[in-house]
Amino acid sequence: MDWPRLRSLLAAHQRFVISSHVRPDGDALGSELGLAMLLDQWGKQVRIINPSESPKNLKFLDPEGRILKLGDGVTVESACDADVHLVVDTSAWNQLPEISDVLRRTAAKKVIIDHHVSADDLGADEYKDSAAAATGVLITEFIQYCGEFFTPPQATALFTAIATDTGWFRFPNTDSRTLRAAAVLIDAGARPAEIYRELYERSSLGRLKLQSIALGRVELACAGRIAYSFVHRKDFAETGSHPTDTEDLVNSCLQIAGVEAAFFLVEQPDGRIKASLRSRTALNVAAIAEQFAGGGHRQASGAMLPGPMESAVATLLRAFSANMASPSGSGD
Ligand code: 5GP
Ligand code: MN
Repeated sequence: MDWPRLRSLLAAHQRFVISSHVRPDGDALGSELGLAMLLDQWGKQVRIINPSESPKNLKFLDPEGRILKLGDGVTVESACDADVHLVVDTSAWNQLPEISDVLRRTAAKKVIIDHHVSADDLGADEYKDSAAAATGVLITEFIQYCGEFFTPPQATALFTAIATDTGWFRFPNTDSRTLRAAAVLIDAGARPAEIYRELYERSSLGRLKLQSIALGRVELACAGRIAYSFVHRKDFAETGSHPTDTEDLVNSCLQIAGVEAAFFLVEQPDGRIKASLRSRTALNVAAIAEQFAGGGHRQASGAMLPGPMESAVATLLRAFSANMASPSGSGD
């Protein structure tokens, strides 16, 4: 990674905007905040502007509410007013709705820091490493390269980024590099037990009831090698849950013995179907997602499909079967 080049670029400018993807997750928000706090320390002017709101269980990272949503008091025109526009944790236009208007219009220099394999040409300087478990690992390594200290809130944000993108260090992307970055952040004041509680032990009753509905619907296909489930729009109202409460349900499908891949579908307010795809073998689910204009990582990806639910299920079952024609013994 050409960190010297990135450091010179950041040092040479004063006004920054940082953005990340729709439905921002822990890695998106933690990376944005970790980077923003570095720029704060350097006396820069920094705004974080996202295409959608932060999920409730991540709000503890941003007690001052510095993360703004485009459209909520920030116009596209105002978001264009910067020297450098940094995009973290995505390199895909369709993950940046509305922000893509800013990126197309802004005169700011564009920079991407990301770890996804799927990529579009955003016309930006790219700092990409798909071997990194999280964008938070990259930001942590960059700050270390710069020889800066981490404040405890900054360490907390970056630890959250890494911990969430690795499913609390249990997904196959977890390696020694991941744990080394996490260790540095714990030494700098990140408190794993407290972060775990904020993330995973503040659920609503509605969330548990939604999970119960989704788990009740799990089906196997392809001779038990694929598991899938889904939720309808009306399930949210009926259980008193929120769309962000579906996070992690796709991984529950992987708990079944013999299952090699899973998908989880969520009906959107506009009737389209958001698909989350996961693989625990060499099966490349980024390639499957790309067939539907989505993308992500080889073992975790997503895409938006047309409804209704039954046809989205059938479409994905066909795509998965085509990609796993022979029993795989290839492992991870
Ligand atoms: P999730 O299933 O949790 O939404 O997403 C899994 C991974 O795939 C994440 O890294 C996410 O950024 C990426 N991803 C999800 N949906 C899309 C999509 O529509 N396009 C692209 N390029 N990546 C996606
Ligand atoms: Mn990420």
